[in-house]
Parts: sequence; C-alpha cells; structure tokens
Amino acid sequence: MTVAECTLSVSLKKIIMMHMKKNTAIIPASPRLPPKLTDYEQTLRSFSWERAATLLSKHPAGGLNMAFEAVDRHAENGLAETIAFRFLRKNGSVQDMTYAALSRATAKFANVLTKLGLQPEDRVFSLLGRVPQLYTAAIGTLKKKCVFCPLFSAFGPEPIRARLERGNCRVLITTSALLRKRVEPLISELPDLSFVLLTDADEDRSPVIRSLPKLLESAAPTFSIPKTAPEDMALLHFTSGTTGTPKGAVHVHGAILSHLVTGKYALDLGKGDIFWCTADPGWVTGTSYGIMAPLAAGATSIVDEQEFDAKRWYSTLERERVNVWYTAPTAIRMLMKAGSELVRNRNLNNLRLIASVGEPLNPEGVKWGHRVLGRPIHDNWWQTETGGIMIANFPSMAIKPGSMGRPLPGVAAAIVQRTNGTISEITEPDIEGELALRPGWPSMFRGYLHDQARYDACFSGGYYLTGDLARKDSDGYFWFVGRKDDVIKSAGHLIGPFEVESTLMEHPAVAEAAVIGVPDPVIMEKVLAFVALKPEYESSEELIRELTGFARKRLGPAVAPREIRILQGLPKTRSGKIMRRLLKARELGLPEGDTSTLETGMS
Ligand code: ATP
Ligand code: MG
Repeated sequence: MTVAECTLSVSLKKIIMMHMKKNTAIIPASPRLPPKLTDYEQTLRSFSWERAATLLSKHPAGGLNMAFEAVDRHAENGLAETIAFRFLRKNGSVQDMTYAALSRATAKFANVLTKLGLQPEDRVFSLLGRVPQLYTAAIGTLKKKCVFCPLFSAFGPEPIRARLERGNCRVLITTSALLRKRVEPLISELPDLSFVLLTDADEDRSPVIRSLPKLLESAAPTFSIPKTAPEDMALLHFTSGTTGTPKGAVHVHGAILSHLVTGKYALDLGKGDIFWCTADPGWVTGTSYGIMAPLAAGATSIVDEQEFDAKRWYSTLERERVNVWYTAPTAIRMLMKAGSELVRNRNLNNLRLIASVGEPLNPEGVKWGHRVLGRPIHDNWWQTETGGIMIANFPSMAIKPGSMGRPLPGVAAAIVQRTNGTISEITEPDIEGELALRPGWPSMFRGYLHDQARYDACFSGGYYLTGDLARKDSDGYFWFVGRKDDVIKSAGHLIGPFEVESTLMEHPAVAEAAVIGVPDPVIMEKVLAFVALKPEYESSEELIRELTGFARKRLGPAVAPREIRILQGLPKTRSGKIMRRLLKARELGLPEGDTSTLETGMS
C-alpha cells in the first residue's frame, strides 16, 4: 500500500484540522502597491501560455533563445543603461553591470566558446562563487546554444567529479585555487573535458588549462545568436540531494516564459525593481530566479558574494533599497534566531514583497516576518524538475500562514491518490494525497540525464507526480504535509513531519526542528524529533520535558514526538534543506548514502 492509499483515521484528521484552524489566522493582502497580478481568480480563468508568449520578443534569427529574452532584447530596447546586476564583492567593493555591458560581456564569452570549437548542446559547467564571471558565462553559454550547469563552489572533489562526468562536461570555468584543490586530479578521469578556463590566470597553463581573461581579451563584444528552438536544451540542474542521489534535470530555452510569468505574478517583478534572490546558482533557485526571471523582467538584481550574516543582510536590504526579496526558510530561521534587535532601526520601507522557497515555511516564520519586518513572508513551492514557481502566495491574496498558496495561472495542480495502480484526483478538501501537476508549462523538465526510466516513472494518469504529499483546503490553498519518503506511519496514522516541526517551532526556545519516524515494535514507527535551540537557551532534561509536554498538549499523544533530542545544528543540504534522511540513517546506524550536497559546517 502506498502512502497516498492510506486513509487517515478520523481522530488524526480532527487533530490536523484543529491545528490547521489554529494556524489559519489569515493575513490579508497588503494594500502597499497594486501587484502585477491584481485579480487571481480572473487571471486563472483567462490565462493561456500561448497568449503569455506574446510577452516575449523572439530574437531576430528566429525561435526563442533564453539569453536573448533575458539580456539582448532589453539592451536593444531602452534598458541599455539600467543596471542588470549589482555585485557585492567579498572585498566590500560594488560592481555594477548594465544590460548593455552584460550583453557585450556575454557576447565575448559566446565568442570564446566559438573559438574553442564548441558545438550546440556541448556542456559548460561553472565551479565558482557568486562572481560576475559566473553570470556572464551562464548567459554567454546560452547565446552559443551550449548547455550551462552551475555547481556550488563548496563542493568537494567527488561531487564535482560525479557531476562533470554524468553531465559530459566539455568546458569548466573555475579559479586557480579551486583547480588546485579540487579539480586537477580529476582531469585525466574525465574524457569529455576539453578545457578548464581559469577566471584569475593571466596566461594559459597548458592547451587544456586556459586563461579566461586572455581569451576574452581578443573576443569581439558582439555575437549573433543563432536560431534556437524553444525545445533546445539550455540548462542542466542537479537536484538538492535531500532524499537521495541528486538527479540531473534537463531544461530547455522555452523555460524563460515560465521565469518571466512567475517573476511577474508570484514575485511581482518588473522594470525599475531592485530584486535580491539570496540563492546560489548551484541550486536551481539561484539560476531561475537569481539570473533568468529578474533579467527577463528587466529588473536590477543584487548578487551578494558572501555567505549569510544577519547584520549584513539587513544592511543590504536597507542600503540597496531592495523592493522584492526572495529567500529560503533556513535563512528566515537564522534571522529569527539572530533576534529582532538587529532590525529595530533599519528602514525597510522600500521592501514590497518577501518570498520564500525550498522547504516548508513554518507558520511561525510567516508571522515573524509580519511582526518584525512589517511584511508577512510569501511562501511558494516548486522543484528543480518544475523549473519555476508552481504554487504561491501571490501578493494580491490573503495569506494563510503555513500554506504554500495556490497554483500559478497556467498550472493545474491536484491532490491525487493511487488505487490499485490507477491515479485519481481527490476532490474532497483537506484530504492528504500526492501533489501532482498536469504537464504543459514551459519550464517543465524534459528528462533526467541518462535516466529515462526514472523520468518515465514520474508520470502516471496524465499527471507529473511530485513525490510530495499535500492537501488542498476548501478555498483552494495547498498545504504541504511532507515528502513521501519522510511521512511517518505510526499506530495506523500518517504523520507529516511538517505539522510536528511547526508546532515545536512555536516554542520560544526552538530555532529549528526536524522530525523523523523510527521503527517501533508496537506502533510501527515512533515520532522522534531533533531540535536546535536559540542562542539564549541551554539544553537540559527539564527543557526536553517542557518541549515534550508542549508538543503533546498541542498535537495530542498520537502525533506528538515520543522523544526529543537537542542538537547543536541540523544537517542541511547546500541549498539549506534539512536532511531528515541523514538524521534517520545516523539514528538507525545505517549507511549515510549520498552526502555530496551536505553543508559540512552544519552537520
Ligand atoms: P532531491 O530531489 O535530490 O531529493 P530536493 O527535492 O530537495 O532534492 P529541489 O528540487 O531543490 O531538490 O527541492 C524541491 C523540493 O523541496 C520539493 O519537492 C519539496 O519537497 C521541497 N519544497 C520546495 N519548496 C517548498 C515549500 N514552499 N514548502 C514545502 N516544501 C518545499
Ligand atoms: Mg526532489
């Protein structure tokens, strides 16, 4: 029996409903400025992707090219002198790049690829921090019709090798230090790798290891983008590895339409906006929304090279007059942990919208934003596979804290169940099932690299099955329950970790929480919770007793954790997601599996 086939017992459903009601103190839509999506219901009825495609301008050679839509059309049409990227460098300097400058720099990069003999669909990888060369390489690669794949610069040699090999990397862009520390020994093991381009070398080191500045020096600043079909492969993204070995999701040039539409509707992005997406391009969010969507919208993006620092982040929001800020629950939890003192005298008046993605956003986080930053946090849901936002708390809609929101116009989302191998939609509200989407939006992945069987297994009954469990309420809002793999089966009940974690987060001592199920001879699985504390609290038996009582009182004994452990921090992926599978493996003394994306500082 699959998880979706299990039915909830009446008592558990009641508990969940009670908990939901408690958390649905609705936050009305902000009256600040009229958002781009003013009437959700009306747009939902009238939207079509064909009509939306008229927002694109189609490049002169024909077809649809991501780089043209993102950069050149703006550089040619009135935004030449608008800042496309403002890079906040590690050394404290600020580097602005206008749309015109970005168009030239990316043309140069495309010409370098031509000079190196690259052909359409050849793979270009980056192993770089959030530096200008990463962003120009991404767009330049797309101009050349090659495929771009950004990797986290913090990856160790093995995750790098595995991805370069599986992705058939032909060109890798990196730095001398990263080459020396992580890549050099791998070169002979990678038959497809033809060139390593160093961003900081003045001279070529060998016919393979070349100086990027030198190659760029002699490259022309104009490039005529060849005819590109919307279905041509553009980007390769490895998933976060939260549930197992990362998969390589293939995306096409046509995806830019999803980036544009979701940027406009879910993030309210447009010309004149200053946008800050805090994600690294090594995670899909940092490419779809750290590069493509803001450029497609003609906005200005802030790119911060440094890692999280609560004080610096608040000062960046204030100084750069950020209007729209897109971040992740892990960062929000860290800001909550850092305390509200840091934000007290900040002027965040320019901030119109705060959005979050990547993990369930606990209601506490949404409410904290409302209370401390003066704006609620708009959660949205999507995956590497979907390429763009699918479900969102749109700015014009009231927020139900803890809900992911409603589907994007043009996206049909449903809760489904599998009965005797057949998929059917659950239409009754508030019943858990698998979150499924009707394929057809432009940024839908077109395959898992070298894994057709796995890709095929994602589709059934005309749906793309996401692997996440959720429920939909009678107002059409979707509520995340947990990943299929993480749901706990205890004494005949199904328990979603998110529900339990959100309750623990309501306790003032708890900074973050992760809940797993561990085998139990009597009740099948028992609920085990791990929590990390806020700095002002100390671990003690008494606090554990208090937390246990707190959770029992709110969730009831069937759902509350049987045991709570306090840890210094929780293991997370580099994209900031809690790795419950790792906590479980460690608890059960099982092999840890693929840990290539583990954030080592936090394990
Ligand atoms: P892997 O597929 O390798 O295990 P991953 O699923 O974490 O990794 P991503 O594609 O980065 O890789 O993440 C997508 C997943 O993140 C979703 O399927 C969902 O489980 C979770 N997620 C994203 N946004 C939200 C959200 N707003 N609420 C709840 N979960 C979310
Ligand atoms: Mg996934």
